[in-house]
Amino acid sequence: MIFRNGRDVRRSALAALSLVLSAATALGVDASNRYRSPRNPERRVRATTELIVLHTTEAPARSSLNKLSDRGECHFCVTEDGSIYRIVDRDREAFHAGRSMWNGKEDVDKFSIGIECVGHHDKVMPLAQVRAIRALVKELQSMYRLGDHRVVCHSHVAYGAPNKWHRYKHRGRKRCGMLFAMPSVRRQLGLTTRPASDLDQRAGRLRQADPYLQKVLYGSVDTMVRAYGAPPASPAPKLTPRITPPQKKASPKPAVRAPTTPVKKTAAAPPVKKAVKKAPAPAAKKTAPKKKAR
Ligand SMILES: [Zn+2]
Repeated sequence: MIFRNGRDVRRSALAALSLVLSAATALGVDASNRYRSPRNPERRVRATTELIVLHTTEAPARSSLNKLSDRGECHFCVTEDGSIYRIVDRDREAFHAGRSMWNGKEDVDKFSIGIECVGHHDKVMPLAQVRAIRALVKELQSMYRLGDHRVVCHSHVAYGAPNKWHRYKHRGRKRCGMLFAMPSVRRQLGLTTRPASDLDQRAGRLRQADPYLQKVLYGSVDTMVRAYGAPPASPAPKLTPRITPPQKKASPKPAVRAPTTPVKKTAAAPPVKKAVKKAPAPAAKKTAPKKKAR
């Protein structure tokens, strides 16, 4: 970069200083620099931060950390034992979201922080790891003033280009981080809301190519309920309707209902009353007013 005057030099020096400070301190949670990416110096400083995007590595910790660090593909990586690794400085752009769109804005890398979590998109993560993710997410939310609905998973924002299977731009390119949309997991992360709908689909910019993913992101599919428990009934009003309630034990009710069902069989007993009612009906067309007069 060529600096044309002293003001530019001062400004860039201040930006560099703030980056160093932000990378070294500020973060309230413990993070290791062991896998800090060599790509850091070449990455632009991000202009804005509107989303926190959660990923799953789909690979073991060591290979994931090496790859993420070499390529500068996320800001933080959280391993199964709850260790947090800083990869790309949080104020710079990391290449974590690929082809992506959110609310009409493409290239989510430009306005988001990416957290890679060692594990799989459809498997339970250890509580130590979940707690570390929670602490990190809370810290970043507070730092960038992001509400719970701004914490999304990669599959929320990734989209696919037209291809021979889907001849249109489509959501459902990948299921990365899918479990982080499930209410039981979000509860563990201290998140009470999630994106209510896919604004890009609603606007017709994208079409859905993975109905199951759609049900996980915005519907009631929650395969982690057994592991993390169902969300409480009252504190999360937006999420509870999406949860299928855990088997309700209705022990006293069957005793009450049981005798009511056989009544249908005994219904053959009072046919007389019905016959009486039916008989006048056809003749009643002309003489109806007189009978009513009685
Ligand atoms: Zn991902």
